[in-house]
Amino acid sequence: MAKIADLIAAGPTLSFEFSAPRDPAGNERLERALERLARLRPSFMSVTYGAGGSTRGPTAEVVSRIQHGLHITGMPHLTCVAHTREEITTIIDRYRDDGIENLLVLHGDLPEGTVDVPTGHFHHAIDLAELVRQRGPFSVGVAAHPEGHPRASSREDDLAHHAAKLAAADFAITQFFFRVEHYERFVEELAKRGVRTPVIPGIMPPTNAEGVARMSAANATEFPDEIRTRLEKAGNDVAARREIGVDVATRLCEQLRRAGAPGVHLYTMNFAEASLGVVSALGLR
Ligand code: FAD
Repeated sequence: MAKIADLIAAGPTLSFEFSAPRDPAGNERLERALERLARLRPSFMSVTYGAGGSTRGPTAEVVSRIQHGLHITGMPHLTCVAHTREEITTIIDRYRDDGIENLLVLHGDLPEGTVDVPTGHFHHAIDLAELVRQRGPFSVGVAAHPEGHPRASSREDDLAHHAAKLAAADFAITQFFFRVEHYERFVEELAKRGVRTPVIPGIMPPTNAEGVARMSAANATEFPDEIRTRLEKAGNDVAARREIGVDVATRLCEQLRRAGAPGVHLYTMNFAEASLGVVSALGLR
């Protein structure tokens, strides 16, 4: 398989993100989405990791299936919250021994209401990036928050932490956003700080006003009124809402392509349809 840093260098990349499933029904849905999207031969596929325990287990298995079963480069997400150094080291070594060459290292968010979890050894994603480099020749990715991380004390502070983290990484993938200006400004701010690590935009086709509003509030991302109104007008018409999601995401991807983004990473939510629609509209495969 391939290192994502090399794929980006040969770019532009097309990738999909999946969530680790919670139960057998979720696993079946994931499997259907994986198979349909694998036919597009994306550059890579990534799988989330449930910080705090809920969906930690399946990540390694799903990534292994992507890489060894579907023959597509697989990238696990790895969060450091609530993990000891020994636990994290064991996980990284298992990935290395399974032939996994890429890791997205993160702090992680504990699910709301989580109690009684141990304090983890690592405090920030950058600490994890350093350990991963010591354990093997991985291509290391990190998360980026173009509109700022919700826990940041100030924009300036946040940009300084982002700059340090991206300088230690091979690439970054962003939180979802809906205006190209947020991405452009973020990349410019990093460049001013001497950081030119490729930043792959994470794009979520918005298909559900309530869900997007909740996620936007949690991540401090702007949910533009015009998109919310379009979705609300579509009501319970699932096909119409999907069409809006595909349209919004496609336009954004086109703007990002013109802005020089090194690829596009689609948040699938374990459904194939919207991603298939965006890829087809962009004429990517
Ligand atoms: P960090 O880089 O550690 O930053 C977190 C906060 O700490 C920021 O406010 C930052 O400014 C601040 N900070 C950073 N370094 C320092 C420092 N040295 N000193 C002081 N403050 C500092 N969550 C999951 O649980 N599982 C997943 O699989 C997952 N996948 C994701 C994938 C992508 C592409 C993205 C964008 C996010 C994902 N998340 C996931 C969510 C992510 O874990 C949260 O956004 C989390 O709150 C921050 O993670 P981070 O890696 O950016 O943290």
